[in-house]
Amino acid sequence: MTIALTAAGLLTCLWSAHTGETNRHASAAIGKGSGAARAAIPHRGTLPVKVSPEITHTAESGGKAVNITIDDGPDPVWTPKILQVLHDNGAHATFCMIGPHAAENSAVVKKIVADDDRLCDHTVSHNMRMNHRSDAYQKSQILDAERMIQQASGGVAPMYYRAPGGAFTPYSRQVAATHGMRPLGWNIDSKDFYRPGVNAIINTVKYELRNGPTILFHDGGGNRSQTYEALKQLLPWLKTQGYTFSFPVR
Ligand SMILES: [Zn+2]
Repeated sequence: MTIALTAAGLLTCLWSAHTGETNRHASAAIGKGSGAARAAIPHRGTLPVKVSPEITHTAESGGKAVNITIDDGPDPVWTPKILQVLHDNGAHATFCMIGPHAAENSAVVKKIVADDDRLCDHTVSHNMRMNHRSDAYQKSQILDAERMIQQASGGVAPMYYRAPGGAFTPYSRQVAATHGMRPLGWNIDSKDFYRPGVNAIINTVKYELRNGPTILFHDGGGNRSQTYEALKQLLPWLKTQGYTFSFPVR
């Protein structure tokens, strides 16, 4: 899937990515930087940096890259295993978290942040029909989860918002973007959620790689041993094919 960008739109995206980066990492830097540096950074939550409300699919590194995205966790069993596979391969991923799961597994969230992986808001209730619900419902689903994730991480805010099942609305995209979370889509659904077998997951990803860089996996929602095994094989293979591991454009 490709997105046509006007020159003005592209400039907006670049500007947002740059300024958003500063703010999103501000919380991690608090307490480490100089007084002058801290003073230059708005306190998190008080001045959210707006990003584009358009759904992003592309890799911020450009070039031959993939964006590994992992949804529905964090899970106390499977997320640490997946983090180990990422680490073993020098890879990074974006974790789209359900708010209460983040709250229940704050140590795992902190490990994700310590590994320089990124956080994504995947709502409180994972309602895949939330696009049929009221604006107030959508807003609370997004912002309550953002708070839970930020609290669990020790202050690092999610950089993206992914609607469960892709049930975005123009309103929910605006709410997320206003709070510094870029709406995040995907190009390749590995179908790992349905546990079709390790080889089926691997073959789906290989076959659909031509569709774009953002690949969807899951670390929550049940036994994810197939996802774990598939990543163990796919990540080294991707490297041999010349792919690098990037993050989605903000
Ligand atoms: Zn999900």
